[in-house]
Amino acid sequence: MSDNLLVLNAGSSSLKFCVYQRPGAGQDWRLEAKGQIEGIGTAPRFLAKDGAGTALAETKLIGEVRDAASALASLADWLRSRYGGSQVVGVGHRVVHGGARHAAPVVVTPEVLEDLRALEPLAPLHQPHNLAAIEAVANRLPEVPQVACFDTGFHRGQPAVAELIPLPREIRDGDVQRYGFHGLSYEYIASVLPEVAPEIARGRVIVAHLGSGASLCAMRDRRSADSSFGFTALDGLCMGTRPGSVDPGVILYLFQNLRLSPDEVETILYKKSGLLGISGLSNDMRVLLESREASAKLAVDYFVYRAAKEIGALTAALGGVDGLVFTAGIGENAPEIRRRICDASAWLGISLDAEANTRRAPRISSPDSRVSVWSCRPMKN
Ligand code: ADP
Repeated sequence: MSDNLLVLNAGSSSLKFCVYQRPGAGQDWRLEAKGQIEGIGTAPRFLAKDGAGTALAETKLIGEVRDAASALASLADWLRSRYGGSQVVGVGHRVVHGGARHAAPVVVTPEVLEDLRALEPLAPLHQPHNLAAIEAVANRLPEVPQVACFDTGFHRGQPAVAELIPLPREIRDGDVQRYGFHGLSYEYIASVLPEVAPEIARGRVIVAHLGSGASLCAMRDRRSADSSFGFTALDGLCMGTRPGSVDPGVILYLFQNLRLSPDEVETILYKKSGLLGISGLSNDMRVLLESREASAKLAVDYFVYRAAKEIGALTAALGGVDGLVFTAGIGENAPEIRRRICDASAWLGISLDAEANTRRAPRISSPDSRVSVWSCRPMKN
């Protein structure tokens, strides 16, 4: 009987999964299947491929799939029909926020779950869904160990000045510091750099994770030296529905002058700003790139402007830059955005190979570029 490991990444509208299998104890784990339930709460669909990328399933889900528990029930049905007799020996979860207490992957206990639940207000788009999946698995498979892996973990060990939020001591003592996120994506990029781009792997590299959430990580010798995300995943770059850095005085203004409630401000900051807020049309980069509306153009212009500006800031933090790596939905699939960010960063010695960029080659800088530029497939694909 083979052993199975399940890896879950539970979001607000999707449950992504991988199944790893080993034929017997002591043998190697290999990717057996991966896929997702998407459209949770709207039009749920189940998609799965085998380890080689061949489609195994692509179906509309009948019945209500409205949350992590019902999505997991659908996934469990499929797993049972495909892997009937084999057992699940462990479940790994992506968890966005580990806070000050958790950096390394940890076996989930009731105490750990309590720590993580206290962090929900700091990552309201993700943490509640991550934890709901842990609870749903615990209800179905109470004996199976579950491990939480944190998006904040990769960034621990940054210089003190990079982690600091310069507020009074008594506030900082309550774990108010810059944490950084997207760490599992950055850790993956760091792990493949020696193979994909050996000439920069030990150097100063800026990785641009540009998806619905967007951030940059400054790495020195494949370790995080700084990142554009801070205490929460609101800081830094312009995102699909989040604004990135804003003057904190604006938040005071929303409370004091516009008399908005904390819930209203949270909704504005997490769900109504960024590309959607600027364009008034969409948070989807594809829609904005195709639109002729001036507001869509302004949203794309701002996205590029902020990314280039932050690349300059992180270059200063690193004392120079040897490599730039693009990843995630926009970073991997939008050559126009890569080109525009690189053009705006030409002053750093970045020169793009236009043909390689549109062809989606891994290396997209020209041979004479002082900084080598790469496009890297994200871990999830
Ligand atoms: P997340 O995992 O954070 O939900 P993704 O990494 O999947 O996000 O990225 C989603 C973003 O990628 C969306 O803004 C989407 O428009 C954009 N995207 C995906 N494919 C393309 C493409 N071909 N051109 C431009 N943008 C794209």
